[in-house]
Amino acid sequence: MLNEVLRQIEQRRRFLLTSHARPDGDAIGSALACAQILRQLGKDAEVVLHDPVPRIYQPLPFADRVVQADRVNGHYEAAILLECDSIQRTRLEGLENQFLISIDHHASGRPFAHVNWIDPHATATAELVHQLAKAAGVKISREIATCLYTALLTDTGSFMFKGTNDQTFALARELVLAGADPAQCAQNVYFAHSTAKMRLLGAALSNLHREGPLAWIWVTRDQMQRSLAKEEDCEGIVNYALSIQDVEVAAFFREMADGRYRVSLRSKGKLNVAEIAERFGGGGHECASGCSIDGPLAMAVSKIMREIRPESSET
Ligand code: 5GP
Repeated sequence: MLNEVLRQIEQRRRFLLTSHARPDGDAIGSALACAQILRQLGKDAEVVLHDPVPRIYQPLPFADRVVQADRVNGHYEAAILLECDSIQRTRLEGLENQFLISIDHHASGRPFAHVNWIDPHATATAELVHQLAKAAGVKISREIATCLYTALLTDTGSFMFKGTNDQTFALARELVLAGADPAQCAQNVYFAHSTAKMRLLGAALSNLHREGPLAWIWVTRDQMQRSLAKEEDCEGIVNYALSIQDVEVAAFFREMADGRYRVSLRSKGKLNVAEIAERFGGGGHECASGCSIDGPLAMAVSKIMREIRPESSET
């Protein structure tokens, strides 16, 4: 499929690049890197996202050029969707009329586009974007390397998630040799949180529940408002619940404006949480997945835990 993606790119000049709503490091890093690759190939490339670039990814090269929009404006010959299993995941309107190329590494990835390059063996979409650059003969600049390294760093949970392997480190090495600064990338992501996020973390941890190998935490809309936290401040909070000794699976519930809950699931590797999220219309990876579920909170927790409990006792 890599060759087919390249062939389609060669035939066109104006590209829109996008990724999922509430973008994470792989979404932003891969989109920014892919846009630079296309520009090196002499193409026009614009990154358009439904949600703002979270503050920890704003130092990435060309992050200031990302357009935030609800719908596609302008004329493009193709749209490249990174990290998405559907058009809906982008929350961008107007993509239906575009020629669509999907590049994704999720096990739950679906072939919704005209060209679909889905490789669940890749530890991050960044790995596929790197392969694209190589195949296209594009030089990995320091800027591209920085975007791809940040994507790899975050999507592997700082090289800690299951699936991280020698290839991951080989790619990280190549990106560092191309100019990515590991300490700077890590500082931007892990030592640049807002005070609001820390307050929100405190609130979430005060709601910690434990049941054998399971742990779950949540935040209400009221707690979000009192902490002055934004949606993006929720990224990574679930990992604190997973970091407890003997916890195998952790969940984080966030109340949304419509009363539904966003759920982040994390596993240390014994339970495939992508399968759990898929049962609720979500998806993700074996060790990191997400979905949305109806409230109230007690019902949402009960429904998710009902699915996880029997599976985790089998492990
Ligand atoms: P997070 O919990 O950080 O929002 O997401 C963890 C992983 O699951 C990410 O790879 C993300 O793309 C994926 N994910 C989260 N929510 C959804 C969802 O609603 N649908 C799908 N397909 N994937 C999701």
